[in-house]
Amino acid sequence: VIMLGQAEHSKITTCAYCGVGCGFKAEMKGNQVVRMVPWKDGKANEGHSCIKGRFAWGYATHKDRVTKPMIRKSIHEAWREVSWDEAINYAASEFRRIQAKYGKDAIGGITSSRCTNEETYLVQKLIRAAFGNNNVDTCARVCHSPTGYGLGQTFGTSAGTQTFKSVEHADVIMVIGANPSDAHPVFASRMKKRLRQGAKLIVIDPRQIDLVDGPHVKADYHLQLKPGTNVAIISALAHVIVTEGLVADAYVQERCDDKSWREWSAFVARPDNSPEAITAITGVPAETVRAAARLYATGGNAAIYYGLGVTEHAQGSTMVMGIANLAMATGNVGREGVGVNPLRGQNNVQGACDMGSFPHELPGYRHISDSTVRSQFEAAWGVTLNPEPGLRIPNMLDAAHAGEFKGMYCEGEDIVQSDPNTQHVTSALMAMECLVVQDIFLNETAKYAHVFLPGSSFLEKDGTFTNAERRISRVRKVMPPKAGYADWEVTMKLANALGYPMQYQHPSEIMAEIAALTPSFRGVSYEKIDQHGSVQWPCNENTEETGTAIMHVDKFVRGKGRFIITQYVATDEKVTRKFPLLLTTGRILSQYNVGAQTRRTENSQWHHEDRLHIHPHDAEERGIQHDAFVKIESRAGDTVLRAFVTQTMQPGVVYTTFHFPESGANVITTDNSDWATNCPEYKVTAVQVLPVMAT
Ligand code: SF4
Repeated sequence: VIMLGQAEHSKITTCAYCGVGCGFKAEMKGNQVVRMVPWKDGKANEGHSCIKGRFAWGYATHKDRVTKPMIRKSIHEAWREVSWDEAINYAASEFRRIQAKYGKDAIGGITSSRCTNEETYLVQKLIRAAFGNNNVDTCARVCHSPTGYGLGQTFGTSAGTQTFKSVEHADVIMVIGANPSDAHPVFASRMKKRLRQGAKLIVIDPRQIDLVDGPHVKADYHLQLKPGTNVAIISALAHVIVTEGLVADAYVQERCDDKSWREWSAFVARPDNSPEAITAITGVPAETVRAAARLYATGGNAAIYYGLGVTEHAQGSTMVMGIANLAMATGNVGREGVGVNPLRGQNNVQGACDMGSFPHELPGYRHISDSTVRSQFEAAWGVTLNPEPGLRIPNMLDAAHAGEFKGMYCEGEDIVQSDPNTQHVTSALMAMECLVVQDIFLNETAKYAHVFLPGSSFLEKDGTFTNAERRISRVRKVMPPKAGYADWEVTMKLANALGYPMQYQHPSEIMAEIAALTPSFRGVSYEKIDQHGSVQWPCNENTEETGTAIMHVDKFVRGKGRFIITQYVATDEKVTRKFPLLLTTGRILSQYNVGAQTRRTENSQWHHEDRLHIHPHDAEERGIQHDAFVKIESRAGDTVLRAFVTQTMQPGVVYTTFHFPESGANVITTDNSDWATNCPEYKVTAVQVLPVMAT
């Protein structure tokens, strides 16, 4: 509920939804927010906002908020409200009991993009220092982990290359597997403004998203490929650029690794990578691929923006590297208006990755096996760190199934609703002896928990979020935590109960520790953010005062840019007689991810259920009427949704969102995943869709 009234005072804070990271002025009366006004000096949004950030903050005071810690011995028992001390001490004693019985590695934890940088840092520190293992992961596992891997391999750092403002200098914009109008609306507006000024647009997407043929902009080329064939397309685009002499030779010679260039250019020049050869795989006409490649290579400043339609595939990491290859070959990295720009989905998914919440990396993307780096953290933290990478989320779940993983600390992440193959997730959680969930609502994962620790919303704590352009902005406490403590304080309590002391008085002290231990954050401080509004990492003695707007300007972070061969391999998820359609998933403007926040706001009036989008041909063939219920079956499971018959789908492909738990979209997604990072293949599931007969 939006409370209108006269504001008495205000604080600047950052939106807790998508990776655009819009700045807002929270206007308050006493301790209550009365209005969220987009901040005109916010660098990411310059006074603009969308309906999520502007209106959907009422969940913070929703009646469903749980404000008392709770425990239960078994998930079949009722919850019992207890004091903070009892809940924390019980969780700590259970974790220690499990480690004594099953070994040190039998527990782990998950952090989330809902958390601030400081909170994420503390969770991975708790797991490494207090649990004594590296079994820490984050929700980036299920979204942009391939970005981290792919850009790290090719450019040397795991982040986007540009600012959002850079799009104002782009002459050609290529959008791959992203729907910014729904998922990154404020950036989409900026992009559309540039398109209206005359920039050209190439869209690579299985669906006809609104950028393709919308009211304000139309794509020059839409490569409407079949789900799962991204890598074939990117190799074909590269084939045209290499074989038609469209390469930026001087750039490649000066900036890129010669051996990798020779191997990659020979690979993409092969006839089997030609647009004509891959048409049968992708369904995209060869002449469209050729025209798009020519435009990208010769149209001036060319910028690529991509989303989860790139990463959430069995070859997600391969595709990210394919995009980086294309940008390097055409000299489109290292200046305004170009670059490779992952549109990070969540408010702080970039930060969650930066803060070392992957099992193989310490903060700042430094491998846990690096003894020099490890020794710096060991000295600061007063512990000996395990040099072996820990378990990723899917490994933790598999280990739970095998009886080897028995306890988990899960902060701000609803893995039951958000991870694929729900049945596999829930049976793993049921095999655990102590699941501790820290969240603002009793989410789907909490149904399997033994300890519930009430979380705090972004309005109840201080900290920072890092958006998709590496911009670190302040989150400011505008009302007291409803349960008494902010999330960083709860993690600190748990660490202390485990016998590992943490004594921070304020998140600024945590940031000071991050800065001291992380070269790319060396120049970051609350004082500097307060002074400038935001800073962008890398921010240190080698950068400008406010950090780095454009990366890889004179050279790549890794030195020479490295081309990597991207051989297309068909996904195992193939259509069959039993499952003849391919399902892909995505988001809608008014809702956000699993909907825990937006479903509890006025936004639900615009979209209150997930729908199954299907082409009229496929619908007619099955006797499916618009608005009628249909059953969707995959080899993982089945669910029922209402049909939405639309020409925006291509025949043979269906689509749904996953914002509502009752839809069970992830009951049907399988546990196929990216070969390098285990990011789930949400974007390709072979299904059958049949009408549900009225009874
Ligand atoms: Fe929030 Fe993203 Fe909307 Fe900005 S574009 S208001 S960050 S949801």
